[in-house]
Amino acid sequence: MVLEYDFQKVIDNMYDGLYLVDRQRKIVYWNHAAERISGFSAGEVIGRSCGDAVLNHVDSYGNELCNSICPLAATIADGQPRDIEVYLHHKEGHRLPVSVRTAPIRDGRGKITGAIELFTDISFRDALRLQLEEWKKVALMDPLTELSNRRQLELQMHARLHELKRNGISCGVLFIDIDHFKQVNDRYGHDVGDQVLRTIANTLTATIRPFDTVGRWGGEEFVGIFPHTTSPSLKRIAERLRVLIQQSVINTDTGPLPFTVSIGATFAHPDDTIDTVIKRADSLMYESKQKGRNLVTMRKASGRKK
Ligand code: GH3
Ligand code: MG
Ligand code: MG
Repeated sequence: MVLEYDFQKVIDNMYDGLYLVDRQRKIVYWNHAAERISGFSAGEVIGRSCGDAVLNHVDSYGNELCNSICPLAATIADGQPRDIEVYLHHKEGHRLPVSVRTAPIRDGRGKITGAIELFTDISFRDALRLQLEEWKKVALMDPLTELSNRRQLELQMHARLHELKRNGISCGVLFIDIDHFKQVNDRYGHDVGDQVLRTIANTLTATIRPFDTVGRWGGEEFVGIFPHTTSPSLKRIAERLRVLIQQSVINTDTGPLPFTVSIGATFAHPDDTIDTVIKRADSLMYESKQKGRNLVTMRKASGRKK
């Protein structure tokens, strides 16, 4: 069966601006989205050259692209598609950031007869993205270590507990506390202490899987949340983190400074709250301290210690 499309309708209803030029870069087609984004109607631009005081793309340095490095001219010349971000000239006078893609149009024998340009308004996208990133950073990131902060850990834990109640999928939780950290501050100063916190944070983020979360719970304490993890693998993860942190080192004026952490490992139960699961991991961590530090203590969901 041959499907018949009204291609003009499809193109006119596209969200992205689209226009076609001939070999001389005269605009021969201009869709509705192009009108909406640029403010110029089809009647105002068809028959004119794309650089003819209409769009006049500039790059972020203000260089005019039309007479030098016009992406459409380049595509017509070499047949290669292009993908760049430029600023177009809106009919009302302001500049608008757009993401532009160009591709050649060829006739039946492969000869280039013109080019197509697709452009998307990215002003809103960019501004919103930057703003959201900034808000997210402020709200959910610990500024010193750039890890998730306690708020983000609580949100994650909340989601995992919800998942556990609904689907029975548990998750492993690690409570990680730096050993004798007060002594580090006392001997080397607060800045070196901060450097230790950042180094541990880097080791933690570098060694977890993308769907795991580690964050700074507060002070010199970190929490890790590991969804879809079995008991042997949680133990392996905790041991690996402990060993990698033990093998990290920072250089100080008085020589290398090694450091260690004590870890408590547990799994969330269906009747846990954020508070009870974190407290359990914390008290297992405390057992590691009592047993001599630089250790992992793990208790399975059944309550059996490993
Ligand atoms: P333990 O092995 O029993 O955990 O001993 P500790 O010294 O690590 O534990 P304690 O709770 O006595 O001390 C924690 C120290 O962490 C005290 C505090 O000054 C330090 N600390 C908390 N937050 C920061 C921070 O942001 N930067 C630095 N440099 N130190 C911090
Ligand atoms: Mg502590
Ligand atoms: Mg400590």
